[in-house]
Amino acid sequence: MRPRIELDADEIIDSHTHCGGFLLSNLLLESYPYSQDTLDLVRKMQSNKVKFSICFPFPIANGFCESFTPELYNRLLVKEVKSFGKDLLLPFAYIRLDDTLQRQLGCLEQLFNDFPFYGVKLYPHCDKYYICDKEIEEPLTTFLLAYDFPVIVHSSFEGYGNPGIILDFARKHPNIRVTLAHASRFLTSAFLEIKNLQNVFLDCSPLNMLCEVMRNAAKKKRYEIENFSFDKPEKVLYQLATIFPDKLLWGSDSPCSFLTNFSDNAVVEFSEKYTYEADIRVLRSLPHKYIKQIANKNTLRFLFG
Ligand SMILES: [Zn+2]
Repeated sequence: MRPRIELDADEIIDSHTHCGGFLLSNLLLESYPYSQDTLDLVRKMQSNKVKFSICFPFPIANGFCESFTPELYNRLLVKEVKSFGKDLLLPFAYIRLDDTLQRQLGCLEQLFNDFPFYGVKLYPHCDKYYICDKEIEEPLTTFLLAYDFPVIVHSSFEGYGNPGIILDFARKHPNIRVTLAHASRFLTSAFLEIKNLQNVFLDCSPLNMLCEVMRNAAKKKRYEIENFSFDKPEKVLYQLATIFPDKLLWGSDSPCSFLTNFSDNAVVEFSEKYTYEADIRVLRSLPHKYIKQIANKNTLRFLFG
């Protein structure tokens, strides 16, 4: 049901992109971006010689509006991928961790008859549930194991998406491949553990903005953060690739490669630094052997085991 993908060892997979629906929280907060045109994503990939992208819908906060559901977003994703991204986009299903989980899983099983999915994306920080909550963990793991689906989990410094909880989950389920998105926020405690867990990966998306976020977080000294040169994304990527040669996945997080908040004047000026091309440039600054690892080999192992 999930065909293996064909690509050469030199070709690139982007492990983290979004399409399908709106990022409603950004829209309401008057922040940008709040959507991505799938055709535009495909154009970016083609002009930058990216062969495949893993893509998934944006999250919808629970209780926001009954008409906006994960089911709707997953359906839109399938329609978009089928129409515009066949043989280019690898859809991951969006599952919201809440009391409608069983209903969502039932709908996904139906949708799988229509189109192959390659994994699952979770956003615990939006859902206000921990991945290890009993009512979540059991049905979710049964589902992931039944389809041999890998899972990408949005990581946050603390709260529902903190890396400690995601790693607890990964340790308990060694047969489920788990990626901590956003480099597990470079938290020292997470870095120590990730090395020892065979089934765990981490992505570095969106590297340029993530470095900016980390520079600010490091200044505040609220968390124990690994010592990286966050003002030099190329250096950060090289360091990550050498620490985690078999675990790091390259991803752009397109279109969330930057964030502009229009409403409180905290406008991050859009610069050349935040384009898809800039992401690719940083990737291509790596020695060739690392590009092959983080944008191809590791991603294939994450996808297919
Ligand atoms: Zn993302």
